[in-house]
Amino acid sequence: MSALPAPAGAPLAPYAAHPALSRGRRIPEPDAPTRTAFQRDRDRVIHSTAFRRLVYKTQVFLNHEGDLFRTRMTHSLEVAQLGRSIARPLGLNEDLVEAIALAHDLGHTPFGHAGQDALNACLRELPAELAGQGGGFEHNLQSLRVVDHLEHRYPAFDGLNLSFETREGILKHCSRKHAQRLDTREPGGVATRFLNGGSPTLEAQLCNLADEIAYNAHDIDDGVRSGLLSLEQLEAVPLFERHRRAALQAHPRLTGRRLLFESIRLMLSEQVYDVIATTRHGILEAGVDSVQGVRATPVLVRFSPGMHAASSALKTFLRNNLYRHPQVMHNTDRARQVVSDLFACYLQDPAALGADDDLFRPHLARAIADHIAGMTDRHAIREHERLTGASLFP
Ligand code: MG
Repeated sequence: MSALPAPAGAPLAPYAAHPALSRGRRIPEPDAPTRTAFQRDRDRVIHSTAFRRLVYKTQVFLNHEGDLFRTRMTHSLEVAQLGRSIARPLGLNEDLVEAIALAHDLGHTPFGHAGQDALNACLRELPAELAGQGGGFEHNLQSLRVVDHLEHRYPAFDGLNLSFETREGILKHCSRKHAQRLDTREPGGVATRFLNGGSPTLEAQLCNLADEIAYNAHDIDDGVRSGLLSLEQLEAVPLFERHRRAALQAHPRLTGRRLLFESIRLMLSEQVYDVIATTRHGILEAGVDSVQGVRATPVLVRFSPGMHAASSALKTFLRNNLYRHPQVMHNTDRARQVVSDLFACYLQDPAALGADDDLFRPHLARAIADHIAGMTDRHAIREHERLTGASLFP
């Protein structure tokens, strides 16, 4: 680690994504007079409608269950914060990290993964000519679709017309089938690496890991806040337990929420420093000194093997004890029902979608999926009540 923190505006490392060397926007635009391409991308994301919707979309706990649980919005802000903290000491481009982090979940449906699974199931049952986009529903693809097509605010183009590097970071996973379809429409574009191999920028790699660090930490906090997890249960998670002990050693009288926060804070710091040290070492060892070098090298932003194992164990704990908790599953089942009912209602009566141009698009089922995916939790619940008369979330 450097002795002193890097100041804001520290020079970019040679392996960082430099805005002047960006592969550009799909529709060329003149440069902004005072902002780089990636700053401008970040600003467009913040001003988008899809971004504001994240305030009312579920991360794990449904939006109306409590005011202090994470939503997709606060989750995205935490990913951006962790991403910037790691980017600066590595000399990476913080603006690009921020743009990708703030946009990475724009394609999420209401009710989190439950909504996505339901929408995916609905679309998979339909013939391809109705479903469009290669069938199925996947939130990473949808995030790209939001920034490429679904935002309608600029006179000259649909979407936000973001830089290649930001779009590439948003498309963090992609099946071969979808990559082939995307690559036909944009040869050599953001999906090509899923066909030919190769890595995205270090900034994109970093956002993937910052996402994981963020949700592992905040789901512990929200899990305890909700009463579904206890501090005693968490003693079984070595990564948490060693920091709880360290917190108690430094502050023997610490209890309750302050002990929880301090343990999480120490855990986050250790993970951040681990990524910085491991990545710095990996970059040196691989001799990477350009973005081209990054693209030709397997993923470099990573945990040390020990931290990787510890983080995986925490993930498994959260899956078994929180995400599959009967109370969470109960909501998950109702959320799936809302989304599949909405889909069925709109398919049967497309006029119920409202009088927007979605109706006239070639793939009706895809237009319906776009419409539902854009909904906030409470909009979906209200619309479900309006269309079915049933009240699944009274
Ligand atoms: Mg995320």
